[in-house]
Formats: sequence, C-alpha cells, structure tokens
Amino acid sequence: MSEPTYIIEYAATGRAKCKGPKSCLDKTISKGDLRFGTQITIQDHPGMAWRHWSCVTATILSKIKSVDDVTGLDTLSAEDQVKVRSAIEAKINPEQDQLAVAAKAASPAKPKPAKPPKRKKKDTEDADDDGDEMMPAPRKRATKKAAAAEKSDDE
Ligand SMILES: [Zn+2]
Repeated sequence: MSEPTYIIEYAATGRAKCKGPKSCLDKTISKGDLRFGTQITIQDHPGMAWRHWSCVTATILSKIKSVDDVTGLDTLSAEDQVKVRSAIEAKINPEQDQLAVAAKAASPAKPKPAKPPKRKKKDTEDADDDGDEMMPAPRKRATKKAAAAEKSDDE
C-alpha cells in the first residue's frame, strides 16, 4: 500500500506543528485537534506536513482531486466527515474563511466610510443667487444653474 497523499485525522499526539498560514505557522497542533496532513518529501524520505483543519486553505483544497484521495475520513465523527467532505468538494473551507474574516476584523482597519456624498451645491447656489456681486468666484456655474432653476420656476 502506497503512502496516502492526504490524511485527515484527530491528532494522536500534541507534537506536530501547524504548517498553516502565517497567523498559525509553527503553533502546536493539540492532541485531539482535527488535523490535515499533506505528504511531502524531505531528502527522499516521505513525511507529512500537518496543519489544523481550520488552517487548510482553498488553495490546498483545490489540489485534492477527490475525496477518495484523503485517507482517514471514515475515522472522523459523522459531523466532521460531512464538514470535511463538503469542504473538499466545494474547494472552500468555511472554517478557514472564518479565520481570515476574523483576522481582518481584528486588524484596525478603518470602518469603510460610505461613499462621501458629493456635496450638493444647492445651498451655495442659493447664496450666490442672492449675492452675485459679493462672491464673483463661483459665480459662473451657480448662475447657470440658478438660471435653469428660474426657468423651470417660470413654467
Ligand atoms: Zn494552524
């Protein structure tokens, strides 16, 4: 039997370190945590690179051709089997997304301002209308618009 390419399992020990995203890289995977292994070769020796299930990205999932390539799925709880299977099939790991979202939320990003409403010049126009001579600078446009407004008033 050849070495499996991917393994999903509950960590039997707490010794493996997560090879996941930067936020988790080299953190220990606790015993019992759901972890995902990818076969790697280190100096001709096959080994496994482990990461928390929640650290499995869409990029990794997209490389898995079939759920059948993942060994150990049937050892998981029914709930986790469904979770993992659907993530592999959808090539999206909702848990990973949640982490990404949480990381984003934690960063001090400014609340996105709604598009600053373009200031309507209506007030200014009105003022200009009253004081043309005193405020010659913005007059051209204002006058035009004011004229238009006057026209429609006349109708
Ligand atoms: Zn991790």
